[in-house]
Amino acid sequence: MTSLQSEIEQRGRRIFELVDKYPESLFSKAGFYQRLMTLSMRDEQLKLQLFRFVDVLPSLHTSGEIIEHLQEYFADAHDSRKLSEFLEAGVRLPRTVPWISGPILRWNVSEMARQFIAGRNPNDVMRTLRKRWTQKIGFTVDLLGETVVSETEADEYAARYLDLLEGLARETKNWTDPLGKNSELFPVVNLSVKISALYSQINPADPADAVAHLTPKLRPLLRRARELGAFINFDMESYAHKNTTLELFKTVFTEEEFKDWPHAGIVAQAYLRDSEADLRDLIEWSRARGTRFAVRLVKGAYWDYETTKSRQNGWDCPVYLQKPESDANFETLTRLLLENESVVTSAFGSHNVRSIAHSQALAEKLGIDRSRFEFQLLYGMAGPIKRALVEMGYRVREYCPVGELLPGMAYLVRRLLENTSNEGFLRAKFAENVSAKELLRDPRDLIKPAVAGIGDPGGIASADGKNSTSLDIAPGDVYRNSPLVNFAYKDSQEKMQGALREVRKRFGEKYPLVIGGEKVWTDQLTPSVNPSAPDEIVGYGSEAGIPEAERAVKAAREAFGKWSRTPFEERARLLERAADIMERRRYELSAVEVFEVGKPWNEADGDIREAIDFCRFYAQQMRRLGRPKLTQRVPGEDSYHHYWPRGVTFVIAPWNFPIAILCGMASAGVVTGNTVIMKPSEQSIICGAMLMQVFEEAGVPSGVLNFLSGHGSVIGAHLVDHKDVNLIAFTGSREVGLKIWESAGITRPGQRELKRVICEMGGKNAMIVDSDADVGEAVGYSIYSAFGFQGQKCSALSRLILLQDNYDRVMERLIPAAASLRVGNPEEPGIMVGPVIDEAAYRRILDYIEVGKSEATLAYQAKDLPPQGYFIPPTIFTDVKPNMRIAREEIFGPVLSVLKVRDLDEALEVANGTDYALTGGFFSRSPANIERVKAQLEAGNVYINRSCTGAIVGRHPFGGFKMSGSGTKAGGEDYLLNFLVPRVVTENTTRHGFAPEETPEYRDEFLPPQQ
Ligand SMILES: Cc1cc2nc3c(=O)[nH]c(=O)nc-3n(C[C@H](O)[C@H](O)[C@H](O)COP(=O)(O)OP(=O)(O)OC[C@H]3O[C@@H](n4cnc5c(N)ncnc54)[C@H](O)[C@@H]3O)c2cc1C
Repeated sequence: MTSLQSEIEQRGRRIFELVDKYPESLFSKAGFYQRLMTLSMRDEQLKLQLFRFVDVLPSLHTSGEIIEHLQEYFADAHDSRKLSEFLEAGVRLPRTVPWISGPILRWNVSEMARQFIAGRNPNDVMRTLRKRWTQKIGFTVDLLGETVVSETEADEYAARYLDLLEGLARETKNWTDPLGKNSELFPVVNLSVKISALYSQINPADPADAVAHLTPKLRPLLRRARELGAFINFDMESYAHKNTTLELFKTVFTEEEFKDWPHAGIVAQAYLRDSEADLRDLIEWSRARGTRFAVRLVKGAYWDYETTKSRQNGWDCPVYLQKPESDANFETLTRLLLENESVVTSAFGSHNVRSIAHSQALAEKLGIDRSRFEFQLLYGMAGPIKRALVEMGYRVREYCPVGELLPGMAYLVRRLLENTSNEGFLRAKFAENVSAKELLRDPRDLIKPAVAGIGDPGGIASADGKNSTSLDIAPGDVYRNSPLVNFAYKDSQEKMQGALREVRKRFGEKYPLVIGGEKVWTDQLTPSVNPSAPDEIVGYGSEAGIPEAERAVKAAREAFGKWSRTPFEERARLLERAADIMERRRYELSAVEVFEVGKPWNEADGDIREAIDFCRFYAQQMRRLGRPKLTQRVPGEDSYHHYWPRGVTFVIAPWNFPIAILCGMASAGVVTGNTVIMKPSEQSIICGAMLMQVFEEAGVPSGVLNFLSGHGSVIGAHLVDHKDVNLIAFTGSREVGLKIWESAGITRPGQRELKRVICEMGGKNAMIVDSDADVGEAVGYSIYSAFGFQGQKCSALSRLILLQDNYDRVMERLIPAAASLRVGNPEEPGIMVGPVIDEAAYRRILDYIEVGKSEATLAYQAKDLPPQGYFIPPTIFTDVKPNMRIAREEIFGPVLSVLKVRDLDEALEVANGTDYALTGGFFSRSPANIERVKAQLEAGNVYINRSCTGAIVGRHPFGGFKMSGSGTKAGGEDYLLNFLVPRVVTENTTRHGFAPEETPEYRDEFLPPQQ
């Protein structure tokens, strides 16, 4: 055993001795809280329900609502049996006096919250702080309620921080340092701030914008703190905010005014893989700055969030996946901090006796006096450890959150999770009585070698390596969604900036048609302009006329014979090569979208990701469908079900997902053995040309994919009616879609087959907000769904249906949230609302806004818009009635109608009362209402408690019904069937009563005849 390890054990044992001297259960408050913890630790499923119930409770207003929710959450017999145990302590009376249980439950939850929340307001908290002071425990105070949705809320927070600071300084004027030594390093007043409470538009892609907005808000607070001799700490939140927080810290404390101020601190999260690099960078920065600063070292409070989020997005997980790795890194960072004690003051934020003992032992070894660093622990947690540390003569500071329960719910839930975590120290020591020897082991000895599942970057693959969303796949075939680009990384930001510069250099280039493998130029060139700056021409596309359309049909028909007989495996590989090329050209393709259609960065990247996913998903699906499959096992007869391609496919795509939708329809056509003529939208020719380049590079044979840009009214109409076109795949407006549907139904002279039409049209999508919904979440997601990409997604929210009980609460936050949006040229990172696509759209949407003004009440309209470009102000109408035009017609722009309804019955009636059924959403925390809406909302894609946009291939097969479409699902496992004709081949295999015993489940393809 090393001498350090034995020193750690010695100190650890001493802490345990002192802890055991004042025996106190971890869950010190008996009754409700203790029962909640005990039950949660015994039963994971019940824990989920209990925490969800705790989360919704403060939002419920009447006793009846509380009881209803209680019944809904614990309807399951198993849960309700367990629950009665819990209620025994939480609410003794409910079964005898049911009406009293609501308030009692609420009281219990708010009492429980008070265990972790030091006070409702600054006055309230002073009582706690005074008491702690007598126990020689200092404080840092935090205002509950991170993540504001608007600048109004952010400004309120900034003002409250300032008030809090003044109040604390006033009340603690005569307090002295508990150790009376090195007190200049540890001001009495210590305030912890969270940047997400101070700026509502933080976008990880744009730290510079956040810094620019946050510094003016912080300066008055920092200035005043300095005058008052206080200390300010920047808390660390989720990984998405990490780089911005670091950047902000370094920027503001390098400013002349604060450069020589030592009382600033920041948090390092040891669970982050890049925390050591960040800490080294900070230390270097501090040396250059020439003034010391402070670091609170913690493990990190967002482990569950980070792992879930990375899994959803297919990102490398930024946090360690094994708990001992975080513990070991905590010790590595402890050493780094203590070895640089000359420039950095350390605060060790942990309740783990091993981590604490390690800091003590190392400091001792390095000769650092115990008055020169401190331990920080959370209010309401690990009381005996705090007392033990004080008794050992160490500095102890308590982190004291202040505020109401509702805004504090995220904090409360984090604490509940932490206390019940299987991995946590507190549970091990205080609930499971793990031995001191075990608890004090060196975490390095506990790290397991990498095992399957651990370290899986996306974490999407299940144990058998298959994507859990695609269960029915051929052996060995794996489908994984491509990860989104994570713009939180500087490297991604730089690549995107670089791509924008490069693409800009190519402005004005000309792009040919591609027919039968040849580049075809015509006399007519169509300019494609940048909607943010219409005098900029992104490029020119050759314009096809009827002769080129005819040539394309001929080329496609000629190529069909061979392509339809090409094995599906080869066709699938073509798509996979195309996907790989798009992956390689990802930033460049996104940049083209930013310029050509005005997509914000993350939306453009989402589009390229979707195109890649379509290719890989359809390749996988084709492998599933490609081999003829035995229908039933009967002796003496083989019947094989299989598919043939249909023929020439005409793909007509919109501009709003200019590469993804074009690619989805074209790749589905190609992989199924059809030959394709693809027509991009007139507004996104360059994106279309890019996709053609991708397929050419991937090696698509001549004539299999033809690129024909031109006017829909000319070549579009001609090809829809063409006798040699077998299938039309259309995504676009209802008006054009219906014409195609009708026209394709007419059989032309010489036509040999019935035309198949895949028709995806618009929506008038509704989101219902229930009376118990989480208002912050509902507002945040509604704003994004309605105004992201300027409301130009067919899935975008256009009708927000609010139950009257919640109406005022939602509106109070919705309008300021809309007013806080960043509207501008999406070339800038972090812009959420860019221009609409062109002048025609611009005028049409403005006309709708006029209609809205005449029909309803204009509740909000943005004012500051860029002087040039097709920018429409985000607009919100209230007092909208279901029969009004703005509530029925698709607007396709940043215009949101708000409808107030009595109850959920009326909400559903209104939501379902249009011609469309594309997407729909519901915000609620009532399990019964959620189930009802899942079943009754008329929409092809129903989204609960999230945005109603952003479908992911394979995960959310996308498409609607009624006037939204013909009921097909792009990115779903039945999509390719639309491009195929099914056949069954039956053979009598008996000869004189003798039949083979074995019939294989799959057989080789029946290749269609040479044409
Ligand atoms: C005073 C104070 C201030 C704080 N401020 C912040 C802050 O600004 N930002 C912030 O994020 N947190 C902050 N925290 C919260 C802190 O991160 C958690 O309380 C802390 O992680 C719990 O660690 P522990 O050492 O007390 O307990 P332990 O039980 O030893 O560690 C639990 C921690 O280990 C990590 N972990 C759990 N499971 C795994 C796993 N499977 N793989 C890898 N790691 C895992 C998680 O970080 C988890 O919280 C603060 C805590 C204190 C005491």
